Amino acid sequence: MENATLHTQVRLAGGEPTTVLVHDRRIQALGGAAPAGVPVVDGGGALMLPGLIDAHAHLDKTMYGMPWYRNEVGPRLIDKIENERVEKKRLGIDPYRQSARQIVMSIGDGTSHIRSHVDVDTDIGVAAIEGVMRARDQYRDEIDVELVAFPQSGLLIRPGTLELMDQALRMGADVVGGLDPAGMDRDPKGHLDAIFALADKHGKPIDIHLHEAGELGAFSMQMTIDRVLALGMQGKVTLSHAFCLGMPDTQAVQALTDGLLQAGVHIMTTGSASRPVPNVARLRQAGVTVCTGNDGMRDTWGPYGKPDMLERTMLVGLRNNLRRDDELELALDVATYGNARVMQLADYGLTPGCHADFVLVDAETVAEAIAARPVRKLVVKRGKVVARDGRALVSAP
Ligand SMILES: [Zn+2]
Repeated sequence: MENATLHTQVRLAGGEPTTVLVHDRRIQALGGAAPAGVPVVDGGGALMLPGLIDAHAHLDKTMYGMPWYRNEVGPRLIDKIENERVEKKRLGIDPYRQSARQIVMSIGDGTSHIRSHVDVDTDIGVAAIEGVMRARDQYRDEIDVELVAFPQSGLLIRPGTLELMDQALRMGADVVGGLDPAGMDRDPKGHLDAIFALADKHGKPIDIHLHEAGELGAFSMQMTIDRVLALGMQGKVTLSHAFCLGMPDTQAVQALTDGLLQAGVHIMTTGSASRPVPNVARLRQAGVTVCTGNDGMRDTWGPYGKPDMLERTMLVGLRNNLRRDDELELALDVATYGNARVMQLADYGLTPGCHADFVLVDAETVAEAIAARPVRKLVVKRGKVVARDGRALVSAP
């Protein structure tokens, strides 16, 4: 049997040690012995997790590897957006170089897939899309990267952006992005008309940054739900952040949750420490698909963040008061299978037939893996070892 490896002494979901046979980039069998001539890799009793997924990143703007950025930005969303556009040019934040750096760190942390929002605006045009695509192509054997064409500086308030979004999608961007239809563009109907038309034209899903809180966010969310139902876009739309679901009016939140379920609209939460956030367990219990990601890290918006999805899972757990082992398992399910559902990844998981994307950590249980966040011992992508002991086997510029 060629192109095969048997991983022994690994524990799936913290169970008894078993074996995983990988053949032709997929998991072929669990629990069997090594066929003749197949190399054996001893996992040493490590916990095997499916490849981690970062379902919300901003690869084009991290400042990892650059001098420390002294952050003196104002408090409003628009302050951060305006500041970033100026600083990108002043500091030379190269989308290719910076996304390559974050990609390589992500591989070392056991991430097998990334959905990255990538800025499209009238200052830089589609240069960031080109840069991230170049990095994506360079590391395509180590990680899968999906691009969202993202109108960070507004869509309708910045004439010319819509045409650039269309160009980014023609170039191969995978998802149509959006941003605060009421709060940013001040024209929720126009904004949603524009992005749903782009999604229809290119046959792509949608992922909207919805920071709008309280009543305003609820208004935009309901408009989005209505539109998804009217256009039959169930299962193809994600609302990222959705801080409005953290508002105290539980009846309004329940009504929105019912709408999200009916329209198959997914929710992305980072478990933000500084904003009201959607309740992950309640959304899941209601049947809404929830996903998570690291969002921007070490950029002009803020100094925090790492590409580590186990750390993100811990932060989601802390913010949602998840303490029991079964609650931490739920948090990891969000960061793995939830993310895979939102990104419509086929054959994801640890059962025979799935792509051989997995990560080994020294932890007794899933809950311990999240609480302790041990170094990733071995990271395998499509059957190939891509990182050992927390370090990717590829390097970044
Ligand atoms: Zn974001």
